Amino acid sequence: MRRTLIAGNWKMNGSFSANRSLLSEIKAGLPANLECDVLVCPPAPYLAQCAELLGGTAVMWGAQDVSVHAQGAFTGEMSAAMLQDCACKYVIVGHSERRAYHAESSELVAQKARQLLGVGVKPIVCVGETLEQREGGLTNQVVAEQLNAVLDQLDVLEGLVLAYEPVWAIGTGKTATPAMAQEVHGFLRQLVAGRDVAAAEKLQILYGGSMKPDNARELLAMPDIDGGLIGGAALKSQDFLAIIAAS
Ligand code: PEP
Repeated sequence: MRRTLIAGNWKMNGSFSANRSLLSEIKAGLPANLECDVLVCPPAPYLAQCAELLGGTAVMWGAQDVSVHAQGAFTGEMSAAMLQDCACKYVIVGHSERRAYHAESSELVAQKARQLLGVGVKPIVCVGETLEQREGGLTNQVVAEQLNAVLDQLDVLEGLVLAYEPVWAIGTGKTATPAMAQEVHGFLRQLVAGRDVAAAEKLQILYGGSMKPDNARELLAMPDIDGGLIGGAALKSQDFLAIIAAS
């Protein structure tokens, strides 16, 4: 049985005071018998604040990106070891915003995932198609290319987490129907099973793209949807808590 992971991607939002309020509301609202894993991914300057406010609680923290390099003259970058030092349990890689605005290729995303696994941090590898690609019948081809590039570079799949995030559903209010999402999640799991059946069975595949309190339960009920990667709704404590409650 795979454990559900509800992960908040704060993107480039927050401040010390806003984060303090959001996190204290989340902590106060968590059910005593929490049945899923909960993660928040703030902008990197706030990781230490998360460690201070969330240490000893059930809420984990992680980052939104990592360098492909281990150390050295790479101004502005953060290594996997540094993020592990900040007690990040997970790091998002290959988010469609990074693929689009920073021209990240699937090979680069794969190197990032490899760096993270090398220091024991779980990469949440995002894959997903644009609207044009979906309408062109290319969804499976696109996500397969994105996933295979990662699988090709990993010797061990233990620790890998995937997020299916249709680009057309991110921040748009449009959500994939549970059936549409399940179809892609099932396809991704089959692809992993083609390499390692046991790893595919254990693999957590999150759905991301306008997940909200009113659609979370139906999406999370699908057999191959093992959690959510949540953007907008992760910035509102009531919405994030309602999604946790729906899991
Ligand atoms: C995301 O950015 O990963 C995301 C899913 O955003 P939203 O929930 O706002 O669509």
